[in-house]
Amino acid sequence: MFKIDLSDRVKQLPPYLFAEIERIVQQKKRTGNNIISLSIGDPDLPPPPFILNWLSEEAANPDNHNYSSSKGETRFRDAVSTWMDDRFKVHINGEAEACALMGSKEGLSNIARAFVNPGDKVLVPNPSYPVYANGGVLLSGGVPISIPLLKENNFLPDLDSISSSNAKMIFLNYPNNPTGAILDKKFLKQIVDFALANNIILCYDNAYSEITFNGYKAPSIFEIKGAKDIGIEFHSLSKTFNMTGDRIAFAVGNEQLISGLVKVKSQIDSGPSKYIQRVAIRALQKYKGSDPPKYIQKNISVYQRRAEVLVTRLQNIGLECTVPQATFYVWVKCKGASMDFARKLIDVGVIVTPGVGFGEWGEGYIRFALTRPIKDIEEACRRIEQL
Ligand SMILES: *Cc1c(COP(=O)(O)O)cnc(C)c1O
Repeated sequence: MFKIDLSDRVKQLPPYLFAEIERIVQQKKRTGNNIISLSIGDPDLPPPPFILNWLSEEAANPDNHNYSSSKGETRFRDAVSTWMDDRFKVHINGEAEACALMGSKEGLSNIARAFVNPGDKVLVPNPSYPVYANGGVLLSGGVPISIPLLKENNFLPDLDSISSSNAKMIFLNYPNNPTGAILDKKFLKQIVDFALANNIILCYDNAYSEITFNGYKAPSIFEIKGAKDIGIEFHSLSKTFNMTGDRIAFAVGNEQLISGLVKVKSQIDSGPSKYIQRVAIRALQKYKGSDPPKYIQKNISVYQRRAEVLVTRLQNIGLECTVPQATFYVWVKCKGASMDFARKLIDVGVIVTPGVGFGEWGEGYIRFALTRPIKDIEEACRRIEQL
């Protein structure tokens, strides 16, 4: 009899939340149920036409089909450097301080592989994107230490209460998934100073830096003095350009952190395909100074309108929530356990993500993703009203 056993590290992993929800949705769809999914953070809108055009152009070029490199093409890293300068007024050396990623998800996991030893403590916000604790810390044999993100602190970490000053690494993410919270440069400075004072590697996930409303501009950690001594920042074209499936993102920051990440990646992948990198270069060059191209601005205002509609309707139903300043998520207080609440909504054909799926401190909340048109959002609200 063969005995097939998962590794201990893999055994520790909880089921990937969205895979679980997707399974339920597929099951419902098969039985002919009319489902409105406001669960997964995957834009419903198509990529801008310029991206689609460039994709066919670049993919048709025979020179764009051999191996890239784990670090990414030089010209891609140069475009990243120029973009960081235009967008945040920070200097990044494209050669040493930037690295292409096949989506930031792998980068967030591989950065832990590069620097976390078995048993090392890593500070992870709770609730948060599950990849930090699971794909990152647990798969590296590290120990995730939760930093609760509480409403009374505007879902920012309470740095004074963090006792694990001997942690190796900290993950943070603003604009924040799942809470929609943002921060200002003053708070960002406190974070950078905390990381410097305690010698903790700062991994800053800026996946939503471009999805912001009402004139709010999300900062980069490198706008703060000293951040490059300790920090690495992750950016992605996934959400900004509605190209989640194309897998193109990048990391920028401290030279040693980038080179550790590249060292791991070079044993695992060979970088994003060249034609995707060429498209990404052209997309980044579409920025006018620090402003996204018109098409993206329109896209952002679509999310904002959806957020306003959803929040108004939910507030009328008596649910507590506010219009976020960034991201395409609305974080809603629910009565009772979030899993029970989400199940009730599934029964009426509305799929949301239970807050507990982002960590125990997400309990008591559900997350709506604004990735459906307004008419679907209104229909979802009608169904919730009937509950
Ligand atoms: C979507 C998302 C990402 C990653 O997206 P990629 O497609 O892998 O670049 C990273 N962080 C957060 C918080 C996200 O929501």
